[in-house]
Amino acid sequence: MWRRGAGLLRLHLAAATGRRARRPLAPLVPAAPSPSTASSSCRQILGIFRGSIGAPSGSRCLSNQAGGGGGGGACWSCGATGAFLSCGSCGSVQPVDPAVDYFQIFGLEREYNIKDNNLERRYKEWQKKLHPDLVHSKSEKERGYAAEQSALVIDAYRTLSNPLSRALYLLKLEGVHVDEEKTINDPELLMEMMEIREAVNDVSDSQTLEKIQSQVKKKLETWSGSFQEAFDQKDFDRAIEATQRMRYYERAVEETVKKL
Ligand SMILES: [Zn+2]
Repeated sequence: MWRRGAGLLRLHLAAATGRRARRPLAPLVPAAPSPSTASSSCRQILGIFRGSIGAPSGSRCLSNQAGGGGGGGACWSCGATGAFLSCGSCGSVQPVDPAVDYFQIFGLEREYNIKDNNLERRYKEWQKKLHPDLVHSKSEKERGYAAEQSALVIDAYRTLSNPLSRALYLLKLEGVHVDEEKTINDPELLMEMMEIREAVNDVSDSQTLEKIQSQVKKKLETWSGSFQEAFDQKDFDRAIEATQRMRYYERAVEETVKKL
């Protein structure tokens, strides 16, 4: 059931955004709910969408334009105001609101340091609520909205759960352009990367590999900390450089993961 739903979801995303839909995170997508849950409490569950993650505050709203409000407009179905992903009054799933940022979706402050555990829990909650089986009795229009919102939540989760993509997203929200293909011309860093690659290639036992991985992860964390510091000070040049270095270490971690 979920497979079919996920296919639909990708289709909707592709249609809605005009870009290639990404593969959903298979292990994190919750199992399909039991039929009784789906049939009886669908409306009820959809109705608590908003309450469960908290109403977005104005301070967290991406849009500062006039009429931007608090990240929720009038419900297309009943007209109630402040509808955010789904309507708090009638439970109707709302169309994607471009003024809502990824942090708002998870009820988080727009900051770099977030608690990952909460993020995963909230992600699963959202996916349960937007699951195609739960909205199957709704109109085609609303099912389309649910598919778009579900895809958005997947994107938001992927982006915020990874330190590098979260950093890049924060810079984007600040209007800072980052050339993600740009390489760093630092002989010391390049030498270090070569050494890591060689060590990963030569390693023959998983214990040593894990040791290498943890060392590389520490480096990644150090640069993640540098990003946070620079970002907090609005020193965007330094923040960009930190993301570029994070990319090198993230790739190095990937190398070790491939071999483990
Ligand atoms: Zn409504």
